[in-house]
Amino acid sequence: MRVFFIGFGQAGGKIVDMFIDQDKKLGTNSFRGIAVNTARTDLMGLKNIDMKDRILIGQTMLKGHGVGTDNVTGARVTADEIDSIISAIDTRGTHDIDAFVIVAGLGGGTGSGGSPVLARHLKRIYREPVYALGIIPSPEEGRLYSYNAARSLTTLVNECDNTFIFDNSAWKNEGESVKSAFQRLNNEVVRRFGVLFRAGEVSKMGVGEMVVDSSEIINTLRGGGITSVGYAISEVMSKHTKKKRGILRNLKDKFGKKQEAHEEVLLGEDKSAKVVSLVRRAMLGRLTLPCDYSTAERALVLLAGPPDEMDRKGVEKAKSWVEENIAGVEVRGGDYPVNSEYVAAVVMLSTVGNAPRIKELLDIAKETKEDVIKSKEKKSTMFEEGIDPLFE
Ligand code: GDP
Repeated sequence: MRVFFIGFGQAGGKIVDMFIDQDKKLGTNSFRGIAVNTARTDLMGLKNIDMKDRILIGQTMLKGHGVGTDNVTGARVTADEIDSIISAIDTRGTHDIDAFVIVAGLGGGTGSGGSPVLARHLKRIYREPVYALGIIPSPEEGRLYSYNAARSLTTLVNECDNTFIFDNSAWKNEGESVKSAFQRLNNEVVRRFGVLFRAGEVSKMGVGEMVVDSSEIINTLRGGGITSVGYAISEVMSKHTKKKRGILRNLKDKFGKKQEAHEEVLLGEDKSAKVVSLVRRAMLGRLTLPCDYSTAERALVLLAGPPDEMDRKGVEKAKSWVEENIAGVEVRGGDYPVNSEYVAAVVMLSTVGNAPRIKELLDIAKETKEDVIKSKEKKSTMFEEGIDPLFE
């Protein structure tokens, strides 16, 4: 899939910068990206996005110092300067892209407030689908971050064709602060979503046997809502490694030379079982957003790795297994041949209905809103009674 990334705010910019770096290193040329921010220093810190593709907004009002955690100002500045953002996107070119992906940390100010505004405009102007990849904050970052994320997410889900979520709290280790984990977390984001978003593009290894093209990803995401992604890898054993570990030698010893064909069959059986087990690990392991996978409406299974490790029967079996375990019946799948020492399975669970952290965020937003309303009511009562709350 050819993706146009817009990194909004600090987290969004850093992550898009890494997607571009990955694309350059792999030579796939399927990603392009710009970064938008109210803070000049954040834009200056990027390494791979061209200087001309780093867009500073709100300069007159904010002097390049950012909006802090004020996402209302983030939204306002974005609306005021939407023309310059769209013009930067047009200059970069959109004629050959399959989708837009806005990446942002939803707990802050610029990305949190700006992403839903940008999504609305992109949807109005372009025909291509608009997705968001939202990073949600860990509870330890404080109530304000959760409140910001909940407000942003509610609008974002309505404006975008689908919203991928990565939950910082699910990925940081026990005892580790979120900040110190950022680099590791970003690597996880880019590894998972990089494989998924590149699917269908011609790699150095050619085209797969059962290609997942961009329309299959787009159709899987068609239901809207929130999407979570699972991922698992397994090391490919070369003939050399197999010999070293005694796997190949034992088989030969037992069946003799004449049984080489039999050995191939055994290894074939083994291959398809390995694919199924890898896909199970991807779906049952840690998802980008922990959720009840059985509520997913659609899914996509993608297997990436060296061509001789791909297995049509294995992918078909894995798809059936996923279908038995999710709410819907639409499961797409295929392979993506890459030159690697690993086989990776990606399971995209689309339109998930039950994610505890999302519910928690929405509850916090509701409570905070009620608190604000109550405090406003209290203030107006006091005014009516002639008491000035400022001097309380
Ligand atoms: P903005 O610049 O105002 O849009 O704010 P940030 O991008 O800093 O967003 C703040 C939220 O994003 C907080 O919840 C942070 O925990 C999270 N965040 C900031 N930087 C990173 C990062 O590099 N990686 C990840 N995973 N999260 C980040």
